[in-house]
Amino acid sequence: MTEQEKERVNEHLKATHDRIFESNRAWASKCLDKDPEFFAKLNSGQQPDYLYIGCSDSRIPANEIMGLEAGEVFMHRNIANLVNSIDLNIMSVINYAVRHLRVKHIVVCGHYNCGGVKAAMTPADLGLLNPWLRNIRDVYRLHEQELDGITDDAKRYDRLAELNVLEQARNVVKTAAVQKSYKDDGYPIVHAWIFDFKDGLLKDLKLDFEGTLKSIQKIYNLTGGD
Ligand SMILES: [Zn+2]
Repeated sequence: MTEQEKERVNEHLKATHDRIFESNRAWASKCLDKDPEFFAKLNSGQQPDYLYIGCSDSRIPANEIMGLEAGEVFMHRNIANLVNSIDLNIMSVINYAVRHLRVKHIVVCGHYNCGGVKAAMTPADLGLLNPWLRNIRDVYRLHEQELDGITDDAKRYDRLAELNVLEQARNVVKTAAVQKSYKDDGYPIVHAWIFDFKDGLLKDLKLDFEGTLKSIQKIYNLTGGD
């Protein structure tokens, strides 16, 4: 990069930085215009009904696409919206959301054209991402026949993105926190959604929660069997 190019990049970054703080001040004052108690209420605690588990992709403004305000959704995001039982981070989020915040719904939301899903279908050494994306390669293995039958690459990636969301939602159902809370209180319900950049719409993949729970509990029952 030439000195001139570096200078241009720095100017652009400085402008973005300034814009963020200006936008933040504008947002805060708009919130107060709508409700003078807005921040006092936020400061007093949270009681979200939803836990959202989504991809880190920068193109998905999660709160905005759902029309949910600050305080309405507890959130966890990682590459390709994976729910891995030895990931202390997401397991803590699910535990806290279910046992303490007592959320009523858990959404695993993937998206079409996901870089993580594409990378997992690529036969290459991706360094630190290898063990992470292995989870998606496992989903591919589970549905190998169906996926190999799709000849169009983009369609195959998109179908794997759907199957991955469904599989990660099943992983949420496998947790003790979800099974126990559902048995005691009838919630949370787990959902599998997918977002499409092409039209901005969320699609509900209609995970059969009750059926999934029943089939999962044959092997993964963590409620003590009583
Ligand atoms: Zn993604």
